[in-house]
Amino acid sequence: MLVVVSGPGGVGKGTLVERLLQLDPRLWLSRSWTTRPRRPGEPDDAYVFVDREHFLREVARDGFLEWAEFLGNLYGTPVPSPPPGCDTLLEIEVQGARQVHERDPTALLIFVVPPSPEEQRRRLEGRGDPEHLIAQRLAKAAEEAAAAGELGAAVVVNDDLDRAVEEMVSLLAAARAERGH
Ligand code: 5GP
Repeated sequence: MLVVVSGPGGVGKGTLVERLLQLDPRLWLSRSWTTRPRRPGEPDDAYVFVDREHFLREVARDGFLEWAEFLGNLYGTPVPSPPPGCDTLLEIEVQGARQVHERDPTALLIFVVPPSPEEQRRRLEGRGDPEHLIAQRLAKAAEEAAAAGELGAAVVVNDDLDRAVEEMVSLLAAARAERGH
């Protein structure tokens, strides 16, 4: 099964995904490619960091399950190869979630939203993005929420980390039961 976690920047998707992975050994995290430069302090393996030309060569040879341009950079999920018995977890933006949904309508889509725009801004500032990028990302959030609604994604409010993780665990269990996993 494909499990897609989506949501605006600064919503805490990364932390939720880390917690889910710790709790569920049957989840396998896909590592994305990006043309975005590495942020200060960001681990080397957060993404496969490549230039645009390299990325587009991979597109041309159909190497991606989905890919999208987000705020001027390209991001893509390599065609997944999870260990047997594992579900693949993707942390991607909404255009990518739509592509996954089109390719595999049985994918579980989860859209994480912040408790408030103020909290989201605080989180983006804490991560060291420049102000113009923070403003762009906040503007993008509303657009993304509308798109997620159209896709019928399950919405999880990240008001409290433990509660939000618990909700995601339940969604996952229900989706597996439904699909007979
Ligand atoms: P960031 O630059 O903050 O790491 O990521 C920007 C956005 O791109 C986030 O919403 C993140 O979830 C999304 N993203 C990361 N990897 C992928 C990917 O492989 N495909 C798509 N479509 N979006 C991605």
